[in-house]
Amino acid sequence: MLEFPKLVLYILVIKRDQMSKTYLPVLLALLFLTDSCSPSPRLGSGAPKSEKPFNIILLIGDGMGLAQISTSFLYNTKTSNFTRFKHIGLQQTIPTSHKVTDSAAAATAFSAGVKTYNGAIGVDPDTVPVPTILEMVAEKGWKTGVVATSSIVHATPASFYAHTALRQNYEEIARQLVYAPVDFFAGGGLQFFNRRQDGINYLDTLAKRGWVINTDKLKLRSPLDGKKYGFLLAPDGMPKMQQGRGTFLPKATEMALDQLANDRGGFFLMVEGSQIDWGGHANDARYIIEETLDFDNVIGEALDFAERDGNTLVIVTADHETGGFSLSASTVFGQADYGKITPSFSTGNHSATLIPVFAYGPGAELFQGIYENNEIFDKMVEALEMNVVNF
Ligand code: MG
Ligand code: ZN
Repeated sequence: MLEFPKLVLYILVIKRDQMSKTYLPVLLALLFLTDSCSPSPRLGSGAPKSEKPFNIILLIGDGMGLAQISTSFLYNTKTSNFTRFKHIGLQQTIPTSHKVTDSAAAATAFSAGVKTYNGAIGVDPDTVPVPTILEMVAEKGWKTGVVATSSIVHATPASFYAHTALRQNYEEIARQLVYAPVDFFAGGGLQFFNRRQDGINYLDTLAKRGWVINTDKLKLRSPLDGKKYGFLLAPDGMPKMQQGRGTFLPKATEMALDQLANDRGGFFLMVEGSQIDWGGHANDARYIIEETLDFDNVIGEALDFAERDGNTLVIVTADHETGGFSLSASTVFGQADYGKITPSFSTGNHSATLIPVFAYGPGAELFQGIYENNEIFDKMVEALEMNVVNF
């Protein structure tokens, strides 16, 4: 098992902003080449075998600003799962290249702690690969998973396991997923694995590497059999809720938690409600509402697990807001009608508003306050370190 020296981790966290192109490859080499020479405790591995493993569940509602979140209060027949959080913060999303972020730059800020340019997948502003939280914990032998309602090679999930200069490099991202330290994935994107320009069928490669791949339904061959499971249930994005996606996302989340927690080590799971963003781009309020209510059920699954487990940190946030979505009082014949909400939009694009962050579990208090999106990475690392101290 490769070591992840605390010194390097410290440099990555503290000095990341000041790090130049020259030093980063050296640090990466240190990170991946340094073997068991580190005298400092590893993340989590200082724990006696009887201690409960520490887990992180990161839930990202793509394009989910405060108005989108509000729909899970205003259009819900149940109590919103957002009410279960006590630790809440706000994050700023500005990337290095523009005033308004895209999903790739924002997800890379979360996954790797760097501010970067729109379109960047797991790379810094100079297109140099940066290690992600998923890779870091996998290096410790922890299990990892990614789940999305987009294609699994789309920008948000990709930024956790892939490194490429352009988010549109879907086939390259699929190739990288095959060799990434991921133990469970579920989403769409089948065509990027089996109908490729290069003619390679990566489903065969995955099978050879011991994966169980399912391309038609969300079902385990034999629950808790210790296998790696991959679900590719659509050629590209998964269907909308309005098109009958049903319980895919909360069920895939529950299944991932069962599979990943079936181990002595900890795990990292990222789940994305990808299509809240697509509802915003389409200026389709009903689309946003259905996708947000589905995502709310995912939050319920994660919090139920975390409550039972007691040693799981759950973080819920968004990469940015989409649509300039607003829930205004209606106007009827020039008069305000406060008895009725008319959802409206100011754009078909992303907006630059501050984005809420919700946290639950050990380390949740770190997520209070107002900070930059890449500090979410720092806070996850800090929570992991705190967890070592606790042992
Ligand atoms: Mg996304
Ligand atoms: Zn978008």
